[in-house]
Amino acid sequence: KRLVILGGGESGVGTALLGKAKGYDVFVSDKGKIKDKYKDVLLNNEIEFEDEQHTESKILNADIVMKSPGIPNKVALVRQIREAGIKVVSEIEFASHYTEATLVAITGSNGKTTTATLTHHLLKQELDVGLAGNIGDSFAKQILNENHENYVLEVSSFQLDDIVDFKPNIAVITNITPDHLGRYEHKFENYIASKFRVVENQTEEDYFIYDVDDEVIVEYMKTHKIQSKKLPFSLTKVVEEGAYLENNKIVITIGNNKITMSTDNLALEGKHNVKNAMAASTVAHLLKIRKQTIRESLENFQGVEHRLENVLKINKVQYINDSKATNVNATYFALESMNAPTVWIVGGVDKGNEYKELFPFVNEKVKAIICLGVDNAKIMESFSNMVDVIVETQYMSEAVKIAYKLANAGDNVLLSPACASFDLFENYEDRGRQFKDAVRNL
Ligand code: ADP
Repeated sequence: KRLVILGGGESGVGTALLGKAKGYDVFVSDKGKIKDKYKDVLLNNEIEFEDEQHTESKILNADIVMKSPGIPNKVALVRQIREAGIKVVSEIEFASHYTEATLVAITGSNGKTTTATLTHHLLKQELDVGLAGNIGDSFAKQILNENHENYVLEVSSFQLDDIVDFKPNIAVITNITPDHLGRYEHKFENYIASKFRVVENQTEEDYFIYDVDDEVIVEYMKTHKIQSKKLPFSLTKVVEEGAYLENNKIVITIGNNKITMSTDNLALEGKHNVKNAMAASTVAHLLKIRKQTIRESLENFQGVEHRLENVLKINKVQYINDSKATNVNATYFALESMNAPTVWIVGGVDKGNEYKELFPFVNEKVKAIICLGVDNAKIMESFSNMVDVIVETQYMSEAVKIAYKLANAGDNVLLSPACASFDLFENYEDRGRQFKDAVRNL
């Protein structure tokens, strides 16, 4: 059978390798340039490919097409493929057919990487487990090379858009706030439905872990039946089964089995990370990780780069890199977790941001704002009457130098942009690294 793969990145090349090993005639086609490291893999494995073009005659004869998550459905070629009646799947769909592993799939608007990495950290203490999806080596490649007994998968809505039978044993939705709406015809309901596809093939023996404080999730569940066993988590109310907070302790109940863990020693700061810890610990408890192991692992987790990452303390000022905060909701939780006067570096490509929900935190905690982006007008307008100092720049090094001058002993300097990074940087990692370099150069 002929497997055509659109997109020669991590998931495309991983799928190509797995497909070839499973006996498919594989062809990889990328409209852009395929990176040399991936070309080398394809060449070494004698997999045919093309880049900077799509040759229709070599694509429309496919039996199955794997579309990389970055390619939108509205692209003409994708439409043509569908009209030709060819099955289009995502990498997690394709790869999941070739493993018997227990699958934990984590999706949501914010907190996927943190929760997936933390969950993997808890499970790996006692289980054979891989971490894949949007993180590190592709799921397909790992199934081929490592074949773990369990996988924690970070799945984006784009991966979920093209599933057919994908059925995780445990599904997690961390939260749902508007993001990526451009890919969903600017309809929030389409984006919500896409996230919920993570549970669509689940049955009664599977589990669904979700934030019951999230109104979007709760509203959706009122009108859509979900087959799997539900394990909600909450910061504000007691739940019968699932996880909640009681006197600074996380309580997790599954059936008759109850465990508690103090939040005092959690390695990660901020309320949102208590939620992430609840979700991850519920998965760990379900998979029979010992209570003591969960507790210790929550305490010694190192965190993930670019997510509220403590960079350095200089003259008693803490510099924090939250470059991954590419939307307002992520920045909301960053500002909420600030426990000292904060110089806030914000800005980038606006995604239709509404800043109102940040006002209370800015009033309370932010002493100065440094706008770092090509177009700072909206940020200046939203916050100018709230802080004493608000300045603009288009250079990270300058932003950090200004912050250094404005901050006093005991303050924080926080990079949490609430915006995408493509105006001044390659991506959020580049932005975070430039921030850290600038801080180290002070
Ligand atoms: P994702 O993989 O979904 O983009 P990350 O774990 O990379 O999520 O975190 C993205 C940003 O959101 C970071 O700024 C992080 O501090 C923040 N964040 C992490 N967990 C949550 C959460 N549960 N709710 C809101 N924001 C979060």
